[in-house]
Amino acid sequence: MPEAKRVALVTGASRGIGRAIATALAEDGLFVVLNYTANEAAAHEALAAVKSVGGDGVLSKFDVSNSDQVDAAVKQIATEHGRIDVLINNAGIAIDGLLLRTKKEDWARTLDVNLSGAFHCTKACSRYLLKSETGRIVNISSVVGEQGNAGQVSYSAAKAGLIGMTRTLARELASRAVTVNCVTPGFIETDMTNKHVQGEVREALIKQIPLGRIGSAKDVAEAVRFLVSPRASYVTGQVLRVNGGLLM
Ligand code: NAD
Repeated sequence: MPEAKRVALVTGASRGIGRAIATALAEDGLFVVLNYTANEAAAHEALAAVKSVGGDGVLSKFDVSNSDQVDAAVKQIATEHGRIDVLINNAGIAIDGLLLRTKKEDWARTLDVNLSGAFHCTKACSRYLLKSETGRIVNISSVVGEQGNAGQVSYSAAKAGLIGMTRTLARELASRAVTVNCVTPGFIETDMTNKHVQGEVREALIKQIPLGRIGSAKDVAEAVRFLVSPRASYVTGQVLRVNGGLLM
């Protein structure tokens, strides 16, 4: 009988970096569960992309900030597929604004999705990851969580929080060989960046990047692919920067 495929849950996988990660992991032979919230059509396109590289997967609709939805979805995934070996906490939002203009609702929503969302998903998946012989958690943080960014107080706080969470969980789960790492992308070409960084700001930004270009979702996916692979089995609690040299 062929060996059962490792199962990976990728949150926020209907587009951008999440979709690229789902496709890369599928290329490496993992069965991928692509989480999405609202955009059914984009989610189906992402699943088609996974299948187009010879991979296999399913869609799972839930809001990462809602722990009841997360618990129910994770239980269903484990029941239907028998295991969860890999969790990629990728879902994220940015509600920008300088401190004085940041409403407490926007602060709370940003923390709920980016940080509490990762907490809910990790907690729900942990019992299955602990049973796996190759358990992996990768949290998608940001360069902004490391160096800050004027106008992104809630986003940078949430992304910095993910780095702290990564290091604590790396210590807590190490005895069961589950690795927990963080990837901090710099500026990556996706809907999120296109919405927030345009025109002259974009040009000025590119000038600050030693490699002289905005990154691609695939650049980030390649780092995640490595951290999930057996080649990274001795790497845990680390922050892997994928930023073209923007922060060294
Ligand atoms: P994106 O907006 O294209 O993708 C974010 C995904 O998260 C979307 O599919 C969205 O539907 C999903 N999502 C949002 N709220 C959700 C919720 N409550 N539950 C489930 N899914 C939800 O942006 P992206 O650039 O692909 O970002 C992916 C991750 O990378 C995010 O965590 C983002 O903060 C991080 N990041 C992006 C950049 C960049 O330059 N694009 C840089 C650093 C970090």
